Amino acid sequence: MNQTINNIIYLDNNATTRVDEQVLEKMLPYFTEYYGNPASRYYTLAETSKKAVEISRSQCAKLIGAKPQEIYFTSGATESNNIAIKGFCLANSNKGTHIVTSLIEHRSVLDPIRELEKIGFRVSYVKPDHYGRIIPDIIEGAITTDTILISVMFTNNELGTVNPIDKIAEICYKKNVIFHCDATQGVGKIPIDVKKTAIDMLSFSGHKIYGPKGIGGLFIRRRMPKIKIQPLVNGGEQEDGLRSGTLNVPGIMGLGAACALSEKVITKESKHLFSLSERMIKNLSVINGVSFNNHPTERLPGTLNFSIDSINAELLLSHISDRVALSSGSACSSSKTKPSHVLKGIGLSDSMARSTIRVSIGRFNTKDEIDYASEMLIHEIKHLRSIL
Ligand code: PMP
Repeated sequence: MNQTINNIIYLDNNATTRVDEQVLEKMLPYFTEYYGNPASRYYTLAETSKKAVEISRSQCAKLIGAKPQEIYFTSGATESNNIAIKGFCLANSNKGTHIVTSLIEHRSVLDPIRELEKIGFRVSYVKPDHYGRIIPDIIEGAITTDTILISVMFTNNELGTVNPIDKIAEICYKKNVIFHCDATQGVGKIPIDVKKTAIDMLSFSGHKIYGPKGIGGLFIRRRMPKIKIQPLVNGGEQEDGLRSGTLNVPGIMGLGAACALSEKVITKESKHLFSLSERMIKNLSVINGVSFNNHPTERLPGTLNFSIDSINAELLLSHISDRVALSSGSACSSSKTKPSHVLKGIGLSDSMARSTIRVSIGRFNTKDEIDYASEMLIHEIKHLRSIL
């Protein structure tokens, strides 16, 4: 089945993905049949939900090489990032008050860090290279005796560039600093194994991997001494007291199924996505003045980010929005006219940032769709240039 819905080709899979039918099928019985609260006791309906939640926890853990008891369910990666950053820093401020992160993290990392800055934490914002790669040596150079947390993303959501996470993790381990990785755009797309990579906390989300929205997870390594986290939501002490609130069982079932499915198809799917994105690069090569911002090889297989000389990306996309769904480089924050901090962070001028488009190809896209979307883009670019 392709991705065309109402004749619109969907190429914005980093924003969100369509729920895979196989995932949906696993979720449905937990709305109407097995609707018990996993925290209830004494009856089978609750027991069934509890068992199902634990199966899903194992599926999530398996995808990243973790132990099931190291996975905590949350409402999504925004919450996971907040728990990992605010929850950790608030519980460990007696050990230090310095944080290292990068200029081009997702806002769900940068905003909680800014909140911590307001109450006295100090932050070093590391600049990436021009592809958006974070250089491990620069991270190492930013660490002080007061550093308690380093937070660097696995893959950048706008650029698709993949970071040398193994090396960054190794530095953190050597320096005895806790390492959090926002892996929302990487998990399920690029293999990651926390048994081999010294990540202490890792965030992920259901709706980026063909699972439902509003469900995510946080991996917290069981290590000695235990990683202390101050819960941000208090209540019924679900999830070991780390994240109170009745569990979203259908969502959890969807997340587990999405993880299991991703694990099964990751190799084949990544080849498929890579070949489609290479096809698009080739198609677009007939246009002058297209420059790619993503790393040429160290990138998410389905993601491309490029700037087109003298073209306003929002105008271009609005002209084709009834046929192709794509994202521009400027509407990352609530203010539509402000260029994204990621594109500014890699050194693009405001005008180049406003000429930037992200293509994120997903599981259901086909060659024909890529060719059609390329044609639309080329046609519209030529048209806009002709009326300049
Ligand atoms: N981090 C990154 C890198 C993301 O791309 C996103 C989603 N755009 C998030 C965090 C937030 O994820 P969620 O929508 O699950 O809260």
